[in-house]
Amino acid sequence: MTSHTATPDLNAAALDAAAVVDRLRTTFASHRTAPTDWRRGQLTALRTLLTDHRDELLAALAADLGKGPEEAYRTEIGFTLNEIDHTLDRLDGWLAPRPAELPDRLLPATAQVVREPLGVVLVIAPWNYPLQLALAPLVGALAAGNCAVVKPSELAPATSAALARLLPRHLDADAVAVVEGAVPETTALLAQRFDHIFYTGNGTVGRIVMAAAARHLTPVTLELGGKSPVVLDPGTDLAAAARRLVTGKFLNAGQTCVAPDYVLAIGDTARDIEPHLAEAVRETYGADPATAPEYGRIVNERHFDRLTALLDSGRTVIGGTHDRAGRYLAPTVLADVSPDSPVMREEIFGPILPIVPVPDLDAAIAFINDRDKPLALYAFTDSDTTKHRLLTETSSGALTFGLPVAHLIAPDLPFGGVGESGTGRYHGEYSLETFSHSKAVLDKPLG
Ligand code: NAD
Repeated sequence: MTSHTATPDLNAAALDAAAVVDRLRTTFASHRTAPTDWRRGQLTALRTLLTDHRDELLAALAADLGKGPEEAYRTEIGFTLNEIDHTLDRLDGWLAPRPAELPDRLLPATAQVVREPLGVVLVIAPWNYPLQLALAPLVGALAAGNCAVVKPSELAPATSAALARLLPRHLDADAVAVVEGAVPETTALLAQRFDHIFYTGNGTVGRIVMAAAARHLTPVTLELGGKSPVVLDPGTDLAAAARRLVTGKFLNAGQTCVAPDYVLAIGDTARDIEPHLAEAVRETYGADPATAPEYGRIVNERHFDRLTALLDSGRTVIGGTHDRAGRYLAPTVLADVSPDSPVMREEIFGPILPIVPVPDLDAAIAFINDRDKPLALYAFTDSDTTKHRLLTETSSGALTFGLPVAHLIAPDLPFGGVGESGTGRYHGEYSLETFSHSKAVLDKPLG
């Protein structure tokens, strides 16, 4: 019975997906999206969408995730505007054919590398930064001259609806389509042939995406997650480190892919940082974070229940209070956390910061290397030797000293994971590279 009622839905979704991709393919085949002017026009229109509908988008983000207006503007709208401006400023240079040297035996001849668009690409976005993570990849897709299908997350329904309403109104609607929906719609999209699939989310679905892409030999970018560690080295300024940790960790109530997941505290730092973390939480969110306008909420009850089940994994330094009806979980720091406690088994993706004591740097490096390669590794240290050892003896999507999460907002730095934390990279010129094919062009006179 269940499958009987489910099949027509899936068929309808499949037909829709095929029709959407066909429409975009016709547009791409017309070469309308190739000229730089079209690309600039689309990016400028996206800019207008974000500024003209700022309040509507902020309201959607507040409805989905309780995001305060300042944080939502900075991390979603402002972030995407920066990405657009950076791209518009440099696009001509990035698209200019690059001359290549040739071996003597091919001379006389000239050669160059030309970036060409891929065709029709699919962007699948998650719920935690539902605007930024749908639109920042789109900036790269459009800059590279592609048509794109955007599939926002069904777990951020207000933002998904806003994107579905606004994108076709502001952009070339025969080149950019929004398909809303959940698993049946995404499954139907994944059955189509795309020229690139850009997926942000968890590794389980990442595997589904990669398997679907393999059927059409479609290249993929997988922006995944995992547990990003923080190494705390003795001798570092613990008060300053605590303030920066709190800012990075509790942004969006900890629901950030590059949030510091746990602290590997070397020696006495495990105990010594506790009062500084408690103080930094009070400084940032006040005595009662439930009333702080810029402190977010957990996306849904399933995640709320998952997170509150982790609260017994250590001694509570600060936080721990929660309210299911309001999906509120206080910024929480847990001390004396054992490496095999529940909070250390999976990516936390919420406002719980465990402190795991380790005796020395060797133990910290061994701890990191025993686990999946993280999306980011952070360290607070004054020692160049520690920095060098972390750089050369560990592998991660990014490595940041002194300021967690900061690499995300530098468009000249590639953003992406390695191993379990993902494959491929984007932001700035890396996005253009992701959504283009670098074509080798050689021209030798016949004479
Ligand atoms: P999610 O549940 O919104 O899923 C992401 C997308 O996958 C959605 O569009 C959803 O519709 C689609 N999807 C879900 N199930 C599917 C299925 N069975 N088949 C096909 N498509 C399906 O988001 P999520 O996965 O919970 O996101 C959180 C994860 O994403 C965390 O692990 C986080 O670290 C990671 N993340 C990574 C980045 C990054 O840039 N690397 C950014 C944000 C989040």
